[in-house]
Parts: sequence; C-alpha cells; structure tokens
Amino acid sequence: MTLNTRIDKFAELAIKTGINVQSGENLLIRADVEAIDFTRRCVKEAYKAGAKQVYVEYSDGVITREKYMSAPNDAFDEYPQWQADKYTQIAKEGGSFLSIISDDPDLLAGVDPDRIARSQKIAGKYLKEWRSYTLSDKVKWSIVAVPSLKWAKRIHPDLDDEDAVRELWENILDCSRVSEDPIGDWAIHNKNLHDKRDFLNEMNFKELRYKSSKTDLVVGLPEGHIWESGASFDPKKNMFNPNIPTEEVFGMPHKYKVDGIVYSTKPLIYAGSLIDEFWIRFEEGKIVDYDAKIGKENLKNLVETDEGSLRLGEIALVPYDSPISNRNIIFYSTLFDENASCHLAIGAAYSSCIENGASFSEEEKDQIGMNVSMTHVDFMIGDKDMDIVGIKQDGTEFAIFKDGNWAF
Ligand code: ZN
Ligand code: ZN
Repeated sequence: MTLNTRIDKFAELAIKTGINVQSGENLLIRADVEAIDFTRRCVKEAYKAGAKQVYVEYSDGVITREKYMSAPNDAFDEYPQWQADKYTQIAKEGGSFLSIISDDPDLLAGVDPDRIARSQKIAGKYLKEWRSYTLSDKVKWSIVAVPSLKWAKRIHPDLDDEDAVRELWENILDCSRVSEDPIGDWAIHNKNLHDKRDFLNEMNFKELRYKSSKTDLVVGLPEGHIWESGASFDPKKNMFNPNIPTEEVFGMPHKYKVDGIVYSTKPLIYAGSLIDEFWIRFEEGKIVDYDAKIGKENLKNLVETDEGSLRLGEIALVPYDSPISNRNIIFYSTLFDENASCHLAIGAAYSSCIENGASFSEEEKDQIGMNVSMTHVDFMIGDKDMDIVGIKQDGTEFAIFKDGNWAF
C-alpha cells in the first residue's frame, strides 16, 4: 500500500470509526494549517458519509507563538465569548467535533509560563459548557494526529525533512492501526478492549494498589464507578472513538482516597513545554509534595490551576507491551504517549465514569469522590516492573497487572 493510499484510509477511519458521521449531521473539524491536506481528505470523507455541514477551523502554531511573545500582558486574561458560543451551539444542535493535531512539541518553549497558565485558565472557564458535552459523551468527538515538519524533526532529528515526515507518518499510521482493513480491525480492537473493561466492571474493585521499584500508590475507586475503554456511545447510541489511537481502559479515582508516591515514566508536555522525571506524593487524595528534574515551575502551574488540579480525575490501564510502547519512541504527544503507558490524570474526572455522573450536582460529585477542575492532564506512570493488585469489596486480592502487562 502506498503512503498516499494509507493516508486516504486514515481519513476514512477518522470520519467513520472516529466520529461515525451520520446522515444529515454537522461536523466541526479543528486543525493546524500544516494539516491542510489531511483536513481536506477528511472533509471529502465526511460529505461522502452524509454530513450536512462540515465547518473547518484552522489554527496556526506560528501565530499562536507570536501572540505569546508579542501581545500585551492583559491579552492572556481574555477569551472571546463568540468562540465559546460557536462550539456550544454546534454541540447543542447535535454536531460532532474532530480535532486533527499536528503538534510542535517545542512550540511554546521560552514563553512566559504565567502567560500560558492564565491563558489556559481563562479558556477553561469559557469552554466549560462546551466541555460538559464532550466530557459526558453528549456529542461525538474524536482526536487524530498527523505529522508537522517540526514534530517529525523533533522525533527523527537525524533524517532530512522529507524522510522525517514520512517516518512519522508511518509511525502514526501503524500506531493508529491503519491496515488493509482499518475499520474491520478497529472493530476487533474495540471488542478486545471492551472485554477487559467488562471484566473490571464486574469485579467492582474497592481500590487498586500500584507497586514498582519506585512507585508505591493506593488509588481508591468511588462507589458506582464505571471503567470505560475504546469506543463510546452518544445518547442516540451511535458508536464513536474519542481517541485514535487508543489502548487504555480508564476509570475514576476517588478524589479523597489516593495515598502514596508515584513516579512519572515518560516526559509530559504541558502548555507547550516539557516536564520530566517527576514524582508526586498524595495524602487523602491531595497532592502534598512533588518535584521534577525538568520543568518544576511548569508542574507547579499545572497543580495550582485550581482546587481540583491538586487531585486526580482519571486512572488508566495500558499494557507495557502495547503497539505504541513497543516502538520505543517518545512522541512528545499525549495522544500517543498516554497509550504507551499506564497513566493518571491531574484534574477533572469524566462524568461517564460513574453511574448517573452527568446528572450529579456539585455537591453530589464531591460526596461520591468525583473530581472537578478546569484542567485534565494525563501523566505516564507505567513501567515494565509494575504490578497492580485490585482489592475487592470483601478484601480479597486479584492480580490485574504483573510486570507491566495484563495479568488476566
Ligand atoms: Zn487516558
Ligand atoms: Zn486523560
């Protein structure tokens, strides 16, 4: 198969398996200008699948950086209401959202972290209503990635431009399971993930205990928690895949029942710059201490975003021997790196990870142990020597992970 044919199949996969566009639906595609060719392929596939309106919103990393470097200081405490309204209106009308990311991991290197923190904070505030649609699967949404030149050169610095982009394309397509029959293979992949998920739900663990040579952490699970994996369903029971690729089975940690210390095992890109080799200590769910060899100030900004960013909102299981992990590449992109490793997320929990979560009041959320925050940032903790033991309600133990991989 030529690369060009594979890219066409990938666009079809994004529209049919990622979003699952239905006849007469609207779709908003958000992409960087570098992804213009792939975006056009997706638009074509979307109309072919019966979309009514396909809206495209381009961003431009160079302009984003220019603003951070050159705009006046008070520009970072504003967010356009009309932008938030646009997303919310599309969501209210049942439209779907496809994000095509083409990260430049160093885009915001050297930018004042305070500007980034304020900018993220204000965007989180204005986009809260729209995010409530995606976080609870009220609308279909999906994220896929395509190479940018800078991203490709970051991962493959020794190759010339063309080869670096080509190599990153091959890696993305392989990790995204773009085979001869990607749609068929994704159906099988989803079935496997759903089997693991169903088993964990049946076991209804009280808590998970993580142990590796460094990490020693207990994560309690709230009553009525739900493990999720692979494809999700919108209220009309249409299947969609929020992330391509995805290898994780994820759930909700109890915001008051996390104790111990956890070490990161892969670098984290937050707000455009790097945090690496860090650890976090928890007491009764709260972050009480942390350190990082690289990017401690950036980590501080993350955990101090709001009250909820001092607690966890996601717990995710990914075998050490996943297809992404086996390539042994750091993608400097959460979409890939999170699927190479067990991870946790600082910040908001997904309301779909608990029974009736979408209808909870703020008080009910707190009572059940569901974390609320303006932010949600994954960090990787999986390692080849990690064991995870599930503790059932009656106290009996069950091996979930042994030496970094599924034990059942
Ligand atoms: Zn995750
Ligand atoms: Zn996450």
